[in-house]
Amino acid sequence: MTESLLYIVSTPIGNLGDMTPRAVEVLERVDVIAAEDTRHSKRLMSHFGINTPLIPCHDHNERQQAESIVNRMRNGASVALISDAGTPLISDPGFYLVRAVREAGFRVVPVPGACAFVAALSVSGLPTDRFFFEGFLPAKSGARRKRMEVLSAFEHTWGVYESPHRILDSLEDLQAVLGDEHYIVIAREITKTFETVLAGSVSDVLERVRSDSNQQRGEFVVLVEGNKKEKSSEITPEIQKMLQRLLEELPIKKAAAVVADLTGLRKKALYEHGLTFKDND
Ligand code: SAM
Repeated sequence: MTESLLYIVSTPIGNLGDMTPRAVEVLERVDVIAAEDTRHSKRLMSHFGINTPLIPCHDHNERQQAESIVNRMRNGASVALISDAGTPLISDPGFYLVRAVREAGFRVVPVPGACAFVAALSVSGLPTDRFFFEGFLPAKSGARRKRMEVLSAFEHTWGVYESPHRILDSLEDLQAVLGDEHYIVIAREITKTFETVLAGSVSDVLERVRSDSNQQRGEFVVLVEGNKKEKSSEITPEIQKMLQRLLEELPIKKAAAVVADLTGLRKKALYEHGLTFKDND
């Protein structure tokens, strides 16, 4: 009897030409395909002439479905998991299923392909030696800004997925958190007809999106340059003294701005340093 396997199969994120021959071959060969939205995936399957039965596996039934898939595998079946687009499990269902299948002792085999985040990163011109993928940010502005505050401290590139109805609000929140000048890249409709990559300062990108409603349509990846932190040693004891003295006379924002002006250090780093004095008051 051949070994029962679970294949995690990536599908295109727009351009059907990105379906790999191996993905087609595996989807034809398995006994059943677990799909996030079977109606959506039926179109992809018929395009490639794949007749394998589809079963639903989405956020709301994944735990039960995992159990039933493990049972199918115990009876000798091989299964493939696909999502609506791109790589399953990347902001998509599949985690519980993979965990359950591995725990049951079966092998899980990747069939790699498109992933919107990696595709966006690869053309962004941002450092890619280290990066952080956040997935989707919270829908409500307050919670979103809070999370952005945390992310904005990262020294490496970071990025999120964003939907068309939130892209403007999200960029406005980024402006509030990062300021006007921070460098960002937004990649829209990757591999599709209206693929667009906009790069520049937050205020520049925001203006381009705000002034052209076409730029608010479609699917987005938003990437943010890491925070180029001053090494704390650059805020020398003399500078610390200057900052501390000014804090006796001025609000923290003003004091940080004056010291930044006099020393060439970054206002944000000085502001953060000033906060530690305040905390110690
Ligand atoms: N698993 C998918 C992957 O590998 O990229 C991501 C699924 S997630 C539910 C969908 C989000 O991915 C969209 O809201 C958008 O932010 C991003 N996305 C998917 N396709 C895209 C594309 N062609 N261009 C830009 N972003 C895309």
